[in-house]
Amino acid sequence: MRHALCAMRYASFAMLRVKNISAYYGNIQVLRRVTFHVKQGEVVSLIGGNGAGKSTLLNVISGIHPASSGTIAFERQEVQKLEPNKMVRLGLLQVPEQRQIFNSMTVTENLELGSYCLPRKAQKRMASSQFQEIYTLFPILEERARQRAGTLSGGEQQILSIARALMARPRMLLLDEPSLGLAPLVAEEIFRVTRKLRDNGTTILLVEQNALAALEVCDRGYVLEAGRIILEGSPAALLDDDEVQRAFLGRDYKGKWER
Ligand code: ATP
Repeated sequence: MRHALCAMRYASFAMLRVKNISAYYGNIQVLRRVTFHVKQGEVVSLIGGNGAGKSTLLNVISGIHPASSGTIAFERQEVQKLEPNKMVRLGLLQVPEQRQIFNSMTVTENLELGSYCLPRKAQKRMASSQFQEIYTLFPILEERARQRAGTLSGGEQQILSIARALMARPRMLLLDEPSLGLAPLVAEEIFRVTRKLRDNGTTILLVEQNALAALEVCDRGYVLEAGRIILEGSPAALLDDDEVQRAFLGRDYKGKWER
């Protein structure tokens, strides 16, 4: 019984709690009192159109861009003033839009860089087991291990970018538009990877313009418009919402939610 109660509490624990966050570029306000949370083990999607403020929100959470007001708690610790390297050490890893891998380095070298933030002893101790885990999850990276990252396909580079973040043993991943610029079939592979990570228990905040795919892969979703959260709910509820259908799924979307 006690175990069951602990498990319930554990499952509902908000790993990330963002409260009333506002942010500016110069005089222009791009985030307006954004409030949301991500529980441990959840995949939460944040959808929104061009310029809605999605990337800025991720950058604020990971300490790259300052918030003008509001609070961010990661595992109950207030972090809104922390620098990006401190956030990485706490276990919050952002996989940036446009991958940002090192083209002239090999796949293995890119992965090694992912564990750079860990203490040296831990790096050495974990290196081989960590590589094995990554290669089991993404066999294509083992096949390409000695290849220069710049010669990989777009989809493979995206997988490498996610895998590099996993090398740091993150508590939570922030994925910024992982399907951007990829052909539909390759994008589908990236969403399969996201599902795999979810099944492995990784907590994920996923930012996407591809609303349908993002809602199919998540446990809950939020809609960001002009810097404000305007809707939140289960994937089924959001897919059923007229506004979401009109703005993100096309006027004649008649899809039925299946899981
Ligand atoms: P997209 O999907 O197009 O990347 P987004 O929802 O991620 O959009 P942001 O990139 O966060 O939106 O941009 C939000 C707003 O802030 C936009 O109007 C954008 O032009 C502006 N913006 C983004 N980065 C900067 C910057 N470095 N300097 C000034 N304005 C910026």
